[in-house]
Amino acid sequence: MTHFFKISAILFFVTLAVVSCKNNDDDVVADFKAENRKALGTSGEDLLSADTFTKLRIEFLFTALTRPKLETINAIEQFLEARVNKPGGISIIETEIPAPNNAPFSLDEIRDIEDEYRTQYTIDDDIAVSVFFANGSSENDTETSFTLGSAYQNTSMVVYRNTLFNFVGGNNNVTLAELETVTSEHEFGHLFSLVNLTNDDIHAKYHLDTVNDKHCVIEGCLMFFSSSVTRSQMETRFKNRSQGNLPVFDDLCIEDLQAKGGK
Ligand SMILES: [Zn+2]
Ligand SMILES: [Zn+2]
Repeated sequence: MTHFFKISAILFFVTLAVVSCKNNDDDVVADFKAENRKALGTSGEDLLSADTFTKLRIEFLFTALTRPKLETINAIEQFLEARVNKPGGISIIETEIPAPNNAPFSLDEIRDIEDEYRTQYTIDDDIAVSVFFANGSSENDTETSFTLGSAYQNTSMVVYRNTLFNFVGGNNNVTLAELETVTSEHEFGHLFSLVNLTNDDIHAKYHLDTVNDKHCVIEGCLMFFSSSVTRSQMETRFKNRSQGNLPVFDDLCIEDLQAKGGK
């Protein structure tokens, strides 16, 4: 009997040790992600300036069928090099994940996918951003209006890659790489806290689109382009451009970025 009690006691303590270990692990994980679980726009200065973070890491999450084009990744890297002050450098990480099978996605489902598969989090002076190229569309899409992408947290965005794929060709004469690039760059604009997301833009007045909140009124600006569009808006947008000539930030958006430490 005594012997049995001893074994039970040992088991009890072993169980306790395992339980307390597990709790510690959960706490560590929670803290580890906290810096990347803030509201959209709140890390604009952190991403743009070198004050707190001198390095930037971008993780692309994608499935076997939605890997971003090489041209897209190169274009986004150039775009970031031109706009953010990161003397320690910008690095790109590509992470293939198992294909989620619950499309079309709600933003909560997108958050869950990020939580499960994102491997890169902000650490020390190295800030990390997650860009998920989703194998499906947004559940908010209608017969005529489509969501191309969404920035939903301080360092998180989704690009609805299958929706972009359906826009390629036809009258648009636009390539998948161009759509991937312009959608991602637009969402980066929101991560940079454009337009006036944190109420501190120097050009908020007359620049902020008061109807399409978070966007700017300058036609042709990267941030004029609403993330939810109709097919005809999309076609108009790309019809009169020369090949390779994609929307960029207008002067006011650039000045707002520079005021937050960008270049
Ligand atoms: Zn937008
Ligand atoms: Zn603008």
